[in-house]
Amino acid sequence: GIDQLGEWDKKYYLHPTTVPKTFSDNGPKIIFTEGNGIRVKDAKGDTYIDGVSMLWNVNLGHGQKELADAAYEQMTTLAYGSSFYGYSNEPAIRLAEKVVSIAPGDLSAIYFTSGGSESNDTAFKLARFYWHLKGRKGKKKIISITNSYHGATVAAGTATGIDAFHNFAGSRDIDILNAKAHLTNCELGDKSDPNYEGCIRDTIEKEGSEAIAAVIMEPVQGAGGIHIAPDGYLKAVKDLCEENDILFIMDEVICGFGRTGKIFGSDNWDIVPDLMSVAKGITSGYSQLGGVLMSEEIRNTLVQYDQILGHGFTYSGHPTACAVGLKNLEIIERDKIVENAKNMEKELKKGFKYLEDNHANVAKSRALGLISAFELQADRDADLPFDKSIRAAAIVAEECYKRKLILRTADFEEGKNIVAIAPPLITKKEDVEEIINIIDDAVTAFENKLE
Ligand code: PLP
Repeated sequence: GIDQLGEWDKKYYLHPTTVPKTFSDNGPKIIFTEGNGIRVKDAKGDTYIDGVSMLWNVNLGHGQKELADAAYEQMTTLAYGSSFYGYSNEPAIRLAEKVVSIAPGDLSAIYFTSGGSESNDTAFKLARFYWHLKGRKGKKKIISITNSYHGATVAAGTATGIDAFHNFAGSRDIDILNAKAHLTNCELGDKSDPNYEGCIRDTIEKEGSEAIAAVIMEPVQGAGGIHIAPDGYLKAVKDLCEENDILFIMDEVICGFGRTGKIFGSDNWDIVPDLMSVAKGITSGYSQLGGVLMSEEIRNTLVQYDQILGHGFTYSGHPTACAVGLKNLEIIERDKIVENAKNMEKELKKGFKYLEDNHANVAKSRALGLISAFELQADRDADLPFDKSIRAAAIVAEECYKRKLILRTADFEEGKNIVAIAPPLITKKEDVEEIINIIDDAVTAFENKLE
């Protein structure tokens, strides 16, 4: 029964982002058993709204039988086939063609992986290998920015600009640098911004551009707190990279395939990066798949030289994963999922306005497609945070959870209490209203606790 599962979980199953003792003592909070649309059921029989698409990945929602059928058909035909040594398979070929056809600009080939971290590690290697082939072997360093999340492997984890993900000994790639730069201020030149700490330009000047292979960033920072790049920002970074012969890597692991109301996050500002990492939404989480798109220049350079890139995964171009990805992209187009995400942005913004009108503590709400957040502040007008002892975002999220809505917080930055909302891209107007109503009640409960 469920008690046995809880005990075994505590005893045998070491979870990702290994948790403090208090968590592991209690065992799992939810054991998911079923999913349908934007809702999931747990082993106790309770139903929750999945307000963050699990890990920003279940974009078509739960229980999509067509994806299961695509997997079944492929598994019973050819479950797996190698992509090494000149071998290939049909789903991988078709998916590569499809992804390239919807990608911006001259992104013209894809290298498949099994997830986002692998994609970013691959992007770093491709960037370094590109410069190596070009005879500029000193160009190895990768620059990332504050509050970015790029994954958990040694390289992607080092690039991640959240200290908790790379603070322990021996887990850093020494050629990856976290610039003291925020999506909100650097590169646009406003050094008077009170949050100004530095910018990518400073780091390039300090290191010298001949040491730098690439800059990586997300169009919307996800785990780091739902920070949306301001207009002009990504273009400024792209220009800076071009001026300095540095490749620009866009991490579209969350934003890719509709999350922001455009097919790619980059499309919101018409940016074409040199390398683009994707994962999550490429299969809506139904199968493990990622990839790195590359510009024509990089693609041509890699194939033109007679040197092997010693890099590949057993599951690169996995036929079943690719078949699921292909069906997923077909449904996204057929059901106008990207358009829906854009329309729901309006509904979310209406909801946030209502929350801000009714709760003095709700502040700084933002949304791009169906990636959104609001913050909780002690004094919104004076831009004053809550005292550290009041974990406002965690309390509000817990109140939502009690009301059967799963949300997520970002509160690792001192004074920031951010609540993230990113439901599946099939979310309807009534669903957004239900989500906002629950948050309304949850914030009221939080306010009552403050008194
Ligand atoms: N990049 C971004 C922007 C992410 O949000 C994530 C995961 O949350 C990753 C990379 C890492 O992806 P994965 O967990 O599939 O390795």
